[in-house]
Amino acid sequence: MQISTPALIIKVMDMRENDRLVTLLTKNLGVVKAFVSGAKKVGHKNHSATSLFCYSDFLLTRTGNTYKVKDASLINSFFNLSSNIENLALAQYFCELTATLSPEETPADEQLRLVLNTLNFLCKGNIDNTILKSIFEMRTMVITGYMPNLLACSECGKFDDEIMSFSIENGEICCKGCKSVNSNYLLNKTLLSALRHIVYSDFNKLFNFRVPPESAKQLNKITENYLIYQTDRQYNTLNFYKSII
Ligand SMILES: [Zn+2]
Repeated sequence: MQISTPALIIKVMDMRENDRLVTLLTKNLGVVKAFVSGAKKVGHKNHSATSLFCYSDFLLTRTGNTYKVKDASLINSFFNLSSNIENLALAQYFCELTATLSPEETPADEQLRLVLNTLNFLCKGNIDNTILKSIFEMRTMVITGYMPNLLACSECGKFDDEIMSFSIENGEICCKGCKSVNSNYLLNKTLLSALRHIVYSDFNKLFNFRVPPESAKQLNKITENYLIYQTDRQYNTLNFYKSII
């Protein structure tokens, strides 16, 4: 069976000889692992289109559960990510999150759109990396089934308060009057509206918000800890990113 799909390469493992095993985020099939023959040979037709962060048009063949890359033609390589170690580390983290949390054999157009746009902004450098990280983390949680409920206080239904608290354990918010023992973070109005924006806004407006640097730092801590708590695992690429900033 042959499948034609655009996909982003989110992981590359070099195999023996000149072969590669690549992990792709495809639009229609979600995360797919595929073998590339001869990919490590410089000058091979698939060489430049099957490197990490390459977004390419793929022609895959499927035999049983095994995919092979028959042909790949490059659409966008995000090549300037590698000129900045912090950007590179962050891009690797976004790819690890995607490879870990996106389902296999299920359409992933939303996640693909998110990761492509985020890498694009990372290359351009016009959005603060801390904010990009928060957007990517929380929106990935929404897409992959870990959406928090930030609509109103989980106890009394109050929409807004000077301070609301957010529990990363149950993904709910609580007003001042009902403050529950489980609540881990205090959200002022800036933080609450930033989180609501990331969770509920239309994709077209997702990247259109700014918060002051101090709030960006707090937001970053909240989205990262929510993700780690909810997915219950550590990410090597995140630890690396944190070791260099
Ligand atoms: Zn309440």
